[in-house]
Amino acid sequence: MAEIAGKPGISLEEIFAQTTALLIPAWRYPEVASARVVLDGQVYAAPGFEEGSSGQRSDVLVQGVPRGFVEVVYLEPRPALDEGPFLREERNLIDAVAQQVGLIVERREAELDRVHLQSQLQHADRLATIGFLAAGVAHELNEPLGNILGFAQLARKCPNLPESAEEDLAKIETASLHAREIIRKLLGFARQMPPEMALVSINDVVREGLLFLDARCSRTGVEVECALDEALPLVFADAAQLHQVLVNLVVNALQAMPEGGTLRVQTVVDGGHVCLNVEDSGVGMSADVLERVFVPFFTTKDVEQGTGLGLPVVHGIVTSHEGTIEIHSEAGRGTRVEIRLPVAGHPANEGEPMA
Ligand code: ADP
Ligand code: MG
Repeated sequence: MAEIAGKPGISLEEIFAQTTALLIPAWRYPEVASARVVLDGQVYAAPGFEEGSSGQRSDVLVQGVPRGFVEVVYLEPRPALDEGPFLREERNLIDAVAQQVGLIVERREAELDRVHLQSQLQHADRLATIGFLAAGVAHELNEPLGNILGFAQLARKCPNLPESAEEDLAKIETASLHAREIIRKLLGFARQMPPEMALVSINDVVREGLLFLDARCSRTGVEVECALDEALPLVFADAAQLHQVLVNLVVNALQAMPEGGTLRVQTVVDGGHVCLNVEDSGVGMSADVLERVFVPFFTTKDVEQGTGLGLPVVHGIVTSHEGTIEIHSEAGRGTRVEIRLPVAGHPANEGEPMA
């Protein structure tokens, strides 16, 4: 069994299939024997296996927890021996095999945990690296961009400009303003601006944010439902950053509902956390898109609409506030973003984030 499990790239399914094949010839009546491994209700049976035939079973424990069993059966009756038609030696053997199966599963799961953790770390590391690079590039670009914008504005003031030149200069201005906006977001993403931490009411952030976005909502035929928990405790946070979080989420929601729909913003308290939920009835996301939304510059929108920095910025702000973000989405059905932030001074949140 150690040899089977040691084969590179072998799946648990294959290990169990080969194990059952290995068991049968080791029993006294292999011509009528069959075997199966059951793990978490999933059955891996050798060909011909029939439930209810007389069998010998041994439990599979993974880290002491029963998760299934290994079983050898005789498909036809055989004379009674030590344990039904089975031998004491066969009992020892099947116990040893079940123990091995438990160990193999344990090792597999530890390996999966390790890989998962590693990919999470790599992701965080990549975000930090990109943030660092982006901040550097943004700083460098800021100055030439300022010149482009400034001189375009100056040039427009020249008397007797032909109309077409005037229009072109206006386009240069608009484009550099757009570029400046991207740089501002990049710098925010890299969190080059120091946060100003204070006690903040998320309800106030929502009310002010929606006020600011109201016109845009009604213009696109979006109905806004706001359900704020009036007993919501305060959080220790940078209000401007939370405002940015709300705006980014609401803008995404509105962009997902070009034909109108419902935007639902909700706040609730849940033990030591305040939850802010932003939900839309828009186009939703495929699993593929959902997987990449936190990757900086990942966007499915065209240049005018998106930079692919909205959700990475939200993610950065939320995690720097020791909070968590979860996104549930289904293509064609809408999206729900759930943000949880620690309640200021709550005993469950010792070691609060400091400025
Ligand atoms: P941007 O909005 O600039 O594209 P974001 O980081 O805000 O960048 O979002 C990344 C991508 O995630 C979007 O391009 C879109 O495909 C998807 N997305 C984000 N929010 C929503 C939403 N509410 N509904 C559907 N898709 C969304
Ligand atoms: Mg966005």
